[in-house]
Amino acid sequence: MASISEGVKPHALLIPYPAQGHVNPMFKLAKLLHFKGFHITFVNTVFNHKRLIKSRGLNALDGLPDFQFKTIPDGLPPTDLDATQDTPSLCDSTRKNCLVPLLNLTAKLNHSASSGLNPPVSCIVADGGMTFPVKATEELGIPILIFWTASACGLMCYAHIRSLIDRGLIPLKDESCLTNGYLDNEVDWIPGIRNIRLRDFPSFIRTTDPNDIMIDYAIGEVDNILKASAIIINTFDELEDDVLNALASIFPPIYTIGPLHLLDNQIPDKNLVSIGSNLWKEDTNCLQWLDSKEPRSVVYVNYGSITVMTPDQFLEFAWGLANSKKPFLWIIRPDLVNGGSVILSSEFVNETKDRGLIASWCPQVQVLSHQSIGGFLTHCGWNSVMESVSWGIPMICWPFFAEQQTNCRFVCTEWGIGMEIDTNVKRDEVEKLVNELMEGEKGKEMNQKVMKWKKKAEEAIAPNGLSCMNLDKLVNEVFLK
Ligand code: UDP
Repeated sequence: MASISEGVKPHALLIPYPAQGHVNPMFKLAKLLHFKGFHITFVNTVFNHKRLIKSRGLNALDGLPDFQFKTIPDGLPPTDLDATQDTPSLCDSTRKNCLVPLLNLTAKLNHSASSGLNPPVSCIVADGGMTFPVKATEELGIPILIFWTASACGLMCYAHIRSLIDRGLIPLKDESCLTNGYLDNEVDWIPGIRNIRLRDFPSFIRTTDPNDIMIDYAIGEVDNILKASAIIINTFDELEDDVLNALASIFPPIYTIGPLHLLDNQIPDKNLVSIGSNLWKEDTNCLQWLDSKEPRSVVYVNYGSITVMTPDQFLEFAWGLANSKKPFLWIIRPDLVNGGSVILSSEFVNETKDRGLIASWCPQVQVLSHQSIGGFLTHCGWNSVMESVSWGIPMICWPFFAEQQTNCRFVCTEWGIGMEIDTNVKRDEVEKLVNELMEGEKGKEMNQKVMKWKKKAEEAIAPNGLSCMNLDKLVNEVFLK
């Protein structure tokens, strides 16, 4: 990868939506831009900054030349640092409360530029899930780039929420639409997407409320994304070819730079690469445990940072895993189960003690790249999907919310590398799908397909690959224009 020549450094301010699945890819992009010669200001919310310090230690965020961390408040009342923040409240609060703090921060940075402490802020990279900085760049007269950290197929679906409303398909007439088959209706007019059902659209459309806050939020975000100088997406062209072509005729220029965790791994400065952004403390013992297991024998179970489930659903997963008789690594976040943690019975513990390991958070990229992992039971968050694809791991999908439903559809139907579990999960189904994934015919087929995608992902980030070249193009055509 080439980097820009010496001189006055461009100064990029990057500001992720304050959730794990956004902070991680934005931080990887920040590291890549830093490697390319940028001065970086990475802006977390005060809440997440405290969490990062708690999970990574006090000094872990200091000491990198030309890379500084700054904070702005998210506008929400203080809460327990270990709890995941409520998505609608966070969306609503950031769009109403964060513009002024961001403008104050850029004013301070530009003031310190006059004393030579840092270059003036030359552009902002905002998250496609939190686009209030668009207004800031209009006031500051600098370019805005949008980093869409989710899938291209997800973006396409969000971009058509307004059309779903115009055609009278949403809001839902009443609650019965959730269960009477209405959501199975196919929508055949979304550019670049075949065979999509209403149920595969982002979960926010499952509302009967015409003033639903998340629908309003999604529409507002898409309107803002249209104003960007460029859009960056953590995907690769071959994976989402048709959708990306269709998006190109709707949105500003798109630069695909995924899988970002593979591209980021090419940065020669390993100190920089090793600085992580996990908001929970990682339990690394699971890596040693994985060392003791046979190649591709372990099912990895992780529902990401936001998914919550009922105690009943939790127990169905637990007994499905136990009954499958397969080794498993199960990540159970402290706030995964609604209403607090559920105690697993001694019967479960006895049944699984020789082949199951439970931890509360892990270094997922290292886990997925471990030779013992053979399958991934996932909620289909986009980072998880990209990480799974690029390590050649087939999936069992239990989408929870947002565009995870769309990702699940693509994983299972378009790419043929996953099998979906019913929302109303039952232990027999978990057992059956885990066994199919690990040793069945369908599992073998998925393995073959996912290995092909793994190869294509590696090609995309190789020196002549599109994602690698797109990053250079992005720097030269947009950032330095
Ligand atoms: N992650 C991790 N350890 C865990 C769980 C998740 O490192 O135990 C990381 C994972 O690698 C991914 C991110 O957290 O980069 C989760 O993002 P994703 O889009 O998959 O799901 P979300 O948390 O946004 O629902």
